[in-house]
Amino acid sequence: MRILLVEDEFDMAAALTAALIRHDIVVDHAPTLEIAEEASRSGLHDAVLLDRKLPDGDGLSLIPFLRREQVGLPIIVLSALGSSEHRVAGLDTGADDYLAKPFSTDELLARLRAVMRRPAQIGESSIKVGQLRFNLTARHAEVADEPLDLTRRELLALEILVRRTGRTVARSALEEAVYGYDDEIASNSLDAHISRLRRKLSGAGVEIHAIRGLGYLLRAAT
Ligand code: CA
Repeated sequence: MRILLVEDEFDMAAALTAALIRHDIVVDHAPTLEIAEEASRSGLHDAVLLDRKLPDGDGLSLIPFLRREQVGLPIIVLSALGSSEHRVAGLDTGADDYLAKPFSTDELLARLRAVMRRPAQIGESSIKVGQLRFNLTARHAEVADEPLDLTRRELLALEILVRRTGRTVARSALEEAVYGYDDEIASNSLDAHISRLRRKLSGAGVEIHAIRGLGYLLRAAT
């Protein structure tokens, strides 16, 4: 899972990011509405955690934009503005959930799981290519009904390739999907992940082609 965390307090953002990473969630951090809007255009996020009091406005003002970009995107507001009126305003603006600060990480994770289970996700819950089935909701891959044992980064790389089956995925988009903005990326590590993925997918009827100078493309084997 990859989430966009919109939060201007760096201590709060760092603590949340650390907690989420421990649960294999990739976090992209945006400290302002402007950066959040730009980051959300990538379409890579599975959910947004949205603070309200931001340097360039109320986080709620971003919700209509997020909804237009990605209709089913789960949005959870995390705010110190926790009165009943504030929560009602958040939910009426289109947030899926509203968590008043302070909250426990366990509760946040439970609410994330809850919003991810909702039916907006069901329409595209799994994608099949050859013998490979990638379940987008549960985030796992199977070959001929046998679970594929993948590392977190392999899974993230496979997901973006599968979502864009038959199309070239730019190297930069893959790196962005596999690594958080703050991760150090060794120059050949993406290629190493792809080689391991290819080995694990042997016999799955799926090919991953390197497109020189551009990126990678996944398609059913011919
Ligand atoms: Ca704030």
